[in-house]
Amino acid sequence: MLKNVVIVGGGTAGWMTASYLASAFGDRVSVTLVESKRISTIGVGEATFSTVRHFFEYLGLREQDWMPHCNASYKLGIRFENWREKGHYFYHPFERLRIVDGFPMTDWWLHKKPSERFDRDVFLMASICDDKRSPRYLDGRLFEQDFVEGREPAETTRTTLLDQGTQFPYAYHFDASLLANYLSGYAKERGVTQILDDVVEVGRDERGWISHVRTAEHGDVTGDLFVDCTGFRGLLINKTMEEPFISFQDTLPNDSAVALRVPVDMEEKGLRPCTTATAQDAGWIWTIPLFGRIGTGYVYASDYSTPEEAERTLREFVGPQAEEMEANHIRMRVGRTRNPWVGNCVAIGLSCGFVEPLESTGIFFIQHGIEQLVKHFPALGWDSALTDSYNRVMADAIDGVREFLVLHYKAAARNDNAYWRDAKTRTTPDGLQERFDQWRSKPPAADTIFPRYHGFEAYSYLAILLGMGGVPMKPTPALALMDGTAADKEFQMLKDESLDLVKRLPSQYEYLAQMHR
Ligand code: FAD
Repeated sequence: MLKNVVIVGGGTAGWMTASYLASAFGDRVSVTLVESKRISTIGVGEATFSTVRHFFEYLGLREQDWMPHCNASYKLGIRFENWREKGHYFYHPFERLRIVDGFPMTDWWLHKKPSERFDRDVFLMASICDDKRSPRYLDGRLFEQDFVEGREPAETTRTTLLDQGTQFPYAYHFDASLLANYLSGYAKERGVTQILDDVVEVGRDERGWISHVRTAEHGDVTGDLFVDCTGFRGLLINKTMEEPFISFQDTLPNDSAVALRVPVDMEEKGLRPCTTATAQDAGWIWTIPLFGRIGTGYVYASDYSTPEEAERTLREFVGPQAEEMEANHIRMRVGRTRNPWVGNCVAIGLSCGFVEPLESTGIFFIQHGIEQLVKHFPALGWDSALTDSYNRVMADAIDGVREFLVLHYKAAARNDNAYWRDAKTRTTPDGLQERFDQWRSKPPAADTIFPRYHGFEAYSYLAILLGMGGVPMKPTPALALMDGTAADKEFQMLKDESLDLVKRLPSQYEYLAQMHR
């Protein structure tokens, strides 16, 4: 069996991989992680996707074990501001649509339009986010358990995101460096060896596979399998194995970001349990409320804004608190490494692939990469079918998310400058245009969204199409021939349940303050 894994890189990807392998294989596989003291981590990446729960569960960690160490908070979805017009917002929550007489509530909403706010009409979480509530009661119970029959979160542990068709109703925000630190403690307690040093050279054998990495002060580190977690550098996969990087610049032009960390008095202001993405002239600004501070940053296209303009815009957006803060400028490599697994080298994290963080998918790709690595873990015979299968699964995941992100820009009604106008005419990947045209008359369903990977389900596509407002969607004609009383009842129930929840749930601040005590 393959027994020796070497991970290069100690950011979120490196330590998530080390912890997961330690949890999956125990001491049957030896794991060494080499991380530079000199080269810093990317320093962002604080909002997650709802399936991240499976990661913590797999590690056997409960929320109260890790959340207080990472200033973590809850995220019930994403609030999109100004994508339609200034002052407009809507939520894309982690909440499946209820189905009535075979049609999702969004179809019924298009037919009946009970109010202008589709998100509040069809999802419970929109109200919870508006009112900054916690998804859990003070005794730890989850709000969903009150209402939705058969949808209680599974009590299963050690599942992975493709095993369970269901998403959890929320994800987390956390401080990325505190999480890496926490996971490094977890991994080291379980036998992972950490070497704090720079990799200065990578040795290859006669097949061209990696034989060792040479460090500045600790000599050569040998292994069977090498995991490249060196971030955008792609030191092992791109520079050593020479695997090409496929750029998505033609479909997703945002290639830069500038970020700030802003302390905030949460007791006074409260914490909205969602990430906010506020549209700007050349991109959008994220707002991630952690317990104790806000992570914020402007993701923009360098063809439409200079770094100085972007930083000015971000500082104005944040207000006077931003004055003292140092800005972190980041150049983003958007796209994916053609094959993240080549020979005995597997890339996980930014070295594998990255799309702008509009739907918080960076850590989702990491989780997916690790889970699939364990599922495809090779024996020393190195079966190439495992490598091929891994590469296909990862490519499909990243390409699927790219399609979903392109949809955001195509569907946004905002059209007030060259940046937003160009977004409407830019190339679309993989037959998206044809399906996009169909969705105006036949709303997206499982069989018409990205065909090979359903990381985002049809309800997400519906939320974006309805929220962004640039695509007039037609109601399904069949609904005019149906009774519709059950749908009216369901709208009323959703309204009552939302009101009731908002009254009964504690504020997110109250819940987290209790957890931090
Ligand atoms: P890095 O953090 O860059 O770590 C690289 C590691 O490699 C470091 O430890 C470094 O020291 C080490 N290293 C490099 N070279 C060497 C060497 N020669 N020798 C030894 N060690 C070396 N994802 C989300 O899920 N949600 C978000 O909200 C989100 N927002 C983002 C915003 C921006 C602007 C960007 C750019 C990314 C965002 N991401 C987000 C993605 C997320 O940040 C990354 O997926 C995550 O941080 C993982 O990064 P990494 O570990 O691959 O790389």
